[in-house]
Amino acid sequence: MLIDTFKRKIDYLRVSLTKQCNFRCQYCMPDTPDDFFDNTAISLPKLLEFIKIAIDNGITKIRITGGEPLLRADIAEFIAGIYTHKNDVEIALTTNGFLLEKFAKSLKDAGLRRINISLDSLKAERIKTISKRDALPQILRGIESAQNVGLGVKLNMVALAQTRDEICDMLEFGRERGILVRFIEFMENTHANSQLIALKSSEILETIASRYKITPLFKEHFGPARLFTINAKAKDGRAYAFGIIAPHEDDFCASCNRIRLTSEGVLCPCLFYQDSVNAREAILSGDKEAMSALLKQAVFNKPEKNQWSGEELKVSERAFYHTGG
Ligand code: SAM
Ligand code: SF4
Repeated sequence: MLIDTFKRKIDYLRVSLTKQCNFRCQYCMPDTPDDFFDNTAISLPKLLEFIKIAIDNGITKIRITGGEPLLRADIAEFIAGIYTHKNDVEIALTTNGFLLEKFAKSLKDAGLRRINISLDSLKAERIKTISKRDALPQILRGIESAQNVGLGVKLNMVALAQTRDEICDMLEFGRERGILVRFIEFMENTHANSQLIALKSSEILETIASRYKITPLFKEHFGPARLFTINAKAKDGRAYAFGIIAPHEDDFCASCNRIRLTSEGVLCPCLFYQDSVNAREAILSGDKEAMSALLKQAVFNKPEKNQWSGEELKVSERAFYHTGG
């Protein structure tokens, strides 16, 4: 079992499969050249060996992310490898949805259970502005395909001033389809568009409260969101729930159960900090003892809190497409 120095049980590994992406979201990597190629990414069979060791050390939940993880052509084999090693490990994936229509069935067949799809707007022009890709129809088809093959779907929307008028529409979109929508507070980082105006959780709640009565629920299982219901029914007849991910709030880190692995084999104890443990050589050489020791070191190094919370706003230098947001 992996326990950090603040007595948090670390059972959740997020793995970034690539720094590459087919979008250029304003809050993530707006200035990365179109032809950027991730030439340091480790092969998926080698990353899989690390993941097996992490599972043997007590990791029970794995989220595959990036960059855009569906750019790795052998991703279904990778998931099948995790599933075959231990079939009760929760395997989930975060994607921008652009290639999902093509992959949904093979991912489900491989053992994927849940998928988070990023959807920042329901207006084609706005998606184009935010992601620099005319992608809305493909994302919508990806969402539909994921639901059709039986994947558990959640939607992530980074809450921006420019899309504030769509927050309630997004809730209705999720409600009609039986999908949980989670609004994410923008996390300030040096790679994002500095002109971006983002919404805090209080502003998101105010916007929703202008149309619905909100009731706080509890914190999400297997996720960092606080959940709420609105006074409108979901498909199953219960009050429809939505989530807010608010890393600027003071208690956000108290229940953090995660550690991250980048595509080049670097372990990151916290999304905010540059601090990391380099496991690249151990992974490339397949040194199991070293991989296990480095994982424990990264857990030991985990800081108590990020620095988005607190009085003074701090900006992270870490690129999310690198660490795996
Ligand atoms: N490309 C995939 C996607 O967009 O879903 C996976 C990687 S992306 C880095 C993972 C999640 O991080 C997405 O939901 C994205 O919206 C979110 N994200 C990226 N940069 C962010 C930022 N600066 N603040 C808050 N969320 C961010
Ligand atoms: Fe790509 Fe995801 Fe970053 Fe957008 S948030 S640029 S889709 S990695």
